Amino acid sequence: GGAEPEELLAGLNPAQAQAVTHAGSPLLIIAGAGSGKTRVLTHRIAYLLATGRARPGEILAITFTNKAAAEMRERVTDLVGPAGGRMWVSTFHSACVRILRREHEAAGLRSTFSIYDAADSQRLITMVVRELGIDPKRFTPKTFAHRISDLKNELVTPAAFAEHAVVTNPLERHLAEVYRAYQARLAAANALDFDDLIMRTVDLLRSRPSLAETYRRRFRHVLVDEYQDTNHAQYVLVRELVGGPGTSGAGATLPPGELTVVGDSDQSIYAFRGATIRNIEEFEQDYPQARTIVLEQNYRSTQNILSAANAVIARNSGRREKNLWTALGDGEAITGYVADSEHDEARWISAEIDRLADAHGVRPSDVAVFYRTNAQSRALEEVFLRSGQPYKVVGGTRFYERREIKDAVAYLRAVDNPDDDVNLRRILNVPKRGLGERAEAVLAEHAARYSVSFGTAVADAAGAPRPSPTDRAGQDAQAPGSEPPAVEGLSTRARTQVTAFHELLAGLRHQLADGDGVADILDSALDASGYLAELRASDDPQDATRVENLAELHSVAADFQAANPEGTLADFLERVSLVADSDQLPAAPGTDGADEAGQEPTGQVTLMTVHTAKGLEFPVVFVTGLEDGTFPHARSLAEDTELAEERRLAYVALTRARERLYVTRAAVRSSWGAATAMPASRFLDDIPSETMDWKRLTASTEALRGGSTGWGAGWGEGGFGSGRAANRRGGATEEDGDFAPAIGSGRAGRRTGRLGRVETPKDRAEA
Ligand code: ATP
Ligand code: MG
Repeated sequence: GGAEPEELLAGLNPAQAQAVTHAGSPLLIIAGAGSGKTRVLTHRIAYLLATGRARPGEILAITFTNKAAAEMRERVTDLVGPAGGRMWVSTFHSACVRILRREHEAAGLRSTFSIYDAADSQRLITMVVRELGIDPKRFTPKTFAHRISDLKNELVTPAAFAEHAVVTNPLERHLAEVYRAYQARLAAANALDFDDLIMRTVDLLRSRPSLAETYRRRFRHVLVDEYQDTNHAQYVLVRELVGGPGTSGAGATLPPGELTVVGDSDQSIYAFRGATIRNIEEFEQDYPQARTIVLEQNYRSTQNILSAANAVIARNSGRREKNLWTALGDGEAITGYVADSEHDEARWISAEIDRLADAHGVRPSDVAVFYRTNAQSRALEEVFLRSGQPYKVVGGTRFYERREIKDAVAYLRAVDNPDDDVNLRRILNVPKRGLGERAEAVLAEHAARYSVSFGTAVADAAGAPRPSPTDRAGQDAQAPGSEPPAVEGLSTRARTQVTAFHELLAGLRHQLADGDGVADILDSALDASGYLAELRASDDPQDATRVENLAELHSVAADFQAANPEGTLADFLERVSLVADSDQLPAAPGTDGADEAGQEPTGQVTLMTVHTAKGLEFPVVFVTGLEDGTFPHARSLAEDTELAEERRLAYVALTRARERLYVTRAAVRSSWGAATAMPASRFLDDIPSETMDWKRLTASTEALRGGSTGWGAGWGEGGFGSGRAANRRGGATEEDGDFAPAIGSGRAGRRTGRLGRVETPKDRAEA
């Protein structure tokens, strides 16, 4: 049932209530962590609906992750009843996918376009780099991938970049070529990457004022959470959706929509993805009529926690001073611990979690352990696995990035989109069917010579009719009656294999056309290809895990089918490709992880990077690895702007805690296979000593002598170590906190919490 408007204001302080009821001009809510920004957004939506100022269909709310979107929709629905269902509550990316699917013709896309995730797109860039004859050692595909992403976030097209690229600079010159060729390949594969989703939507709205007008008429209220982490493309997208001066078709009849943005410039932590604090800092210039409301009361944390966080962030210059206060009292002191090594740190944390459970009834699901980079989870996981502490890792090697899952999904994508070259080539010889690099090269050559897709080359080699995409308007339709050109250079054996491969895919496409569900098609693909049989026959325990993971994917698909009887394979793949890290959190803490003995479900400890923790809160938080060179990250130490971002990251970390906050560091940490003495993080020095209770202030002398890290060294160097070490060195910090933009409901991203199915450190090291 619908709430009365007054009820919606009852639980709010005066500033929050003003923000909820404000009408008539753009609204900026700027406030520190835990001051109720997200809560205000939710209540504002409910209030708009309850007062009849808006209908659900007129609301577009943008959140940073799927989990946040699902939560917001649920809370609004709780407040206003099922009418909430017609709102659009989503991430930027999923809103754009929805628009592009609807308007695919105007956008020059086919409705079945694929979405390439970061790994797909890097694969394609690698192919392009190779084809252009660029030395991938001198100019890595990764560099190109980053630069192209940056350009797209700035809405710079290949043509525009080519005009401005400094031709005397070899990297820039190559970048211009790679960018153009990459876009051409994406188009040929009927695919968009993540950044394209935003850029293409902006493009669409700008080039079709009447269409922009349609959306502006529809979304009279646009609300954006975590506005400090929007990049330029997202900023322009919001402007285009709201309308008003400076946008396409401006001056038309429609007054601009009502825009509400909330954010905290102290929590801007996505600069590496092009986020710019400018968007929040200059909001008032961009929207001269804007009203700004500041929230000052923090409802999340105790005073000790707030004092620590405030002291750390206060050392950033050029920020707007905030007076965050709490009525919750001082609370517990912040607990500090200096460990000998990362293993010692993990052991102490594990023991402390046990102690909290015994002494204070703290449940595992109340506890989160944060680290700066994904690689750090390994030591924690080893200890948790040994001690039987239920835990889950959010982020890291994500379910959908595991090899077997990517293979299975590649089959589905190839079935769904016959022109999806990247995925088709991925599975051409998976499982091994004697179609190695040579056969692939022959097919690729054929495709290039006749300007057809790789899939068409496969069909030609099989002497079969070319596959027809679901809507093949304008496709390379072959004149009826004409023979497809023969593929030259394949051995008889290879030709037989290509034919079998083609028939395999054709069979699966038939199944799709006959209306079979996603889970059935998945099963057929894994069976008919022999993929599953190969894993089952293997005596490598890793392969057993892979089978379990595929079973998990099957149940994700089956759940999807049950929840969306009308859902297509394309719908499913869309969710899969854009699932966010945070979606792997269980919907309701404490509902999973019941142990076999049928004890009370108490959930699992959450392990995650600080980046992934944004917007969340936990009663108990451990912030680990507070060492100069770990957190702040080594790369940031010499750079003021980067150090400022690390400081904001620390502020985010500390402010996630509600009741108990722990800060830990290791005196010696093994990285790159060598034990290194680590100085205390400068952030620790900033925390007022009167808020701190140090359980251990210095490491043992043995540890400090360096090198000798006891049994820990063995773990670090041993079976699990090497692969990760390379990662750490690789300057992979951008990915460390990264996330896949989110779409759809949280279900597809679910990762089980049961200990048995949690990936092992080895699993993660390998991926
Ligand atoms: P962040 O900056 O971390 O995103 P936020 O400003 O979005 O934080 P919320 O997550 O909305 O803050 O709120 C923090 C906590 O305080 C939540 O548990 C929320 O329910 C609670 N809270 C906010 N406002 C009030 C209020 N007026 N009365 C009681 N609890 C409140
Ligand atoms: Mg929030």
